[in-house]
Amino acid sequence: MPTYTYGCKKCGIEFEIFKPMDNAEDEECPICGSKEIERVYSSFNYTCDHSCGSSSFG
Ligand SMILES: [Zn+2]
Repeated sequence: MPTYTYGCKKCGIEFEIFKPMDNAEDEECPICGSKEIERVYSSFNYTCDHSCGSSSFG
């Protein structure tokens, strides 16, 4: 089963979830409990233009 790496925006840790972000809406940071988590792409540099399809970033 593939794992997906996520990072917590609040405390900054990284952790793994066994499902993609589409189904990870209810997931929360295992440390601080924040739901402000985002996918982390560590295996390659992901660059894009202004609208990348993801939700709004601050
Ligand atoms: Zn956290």
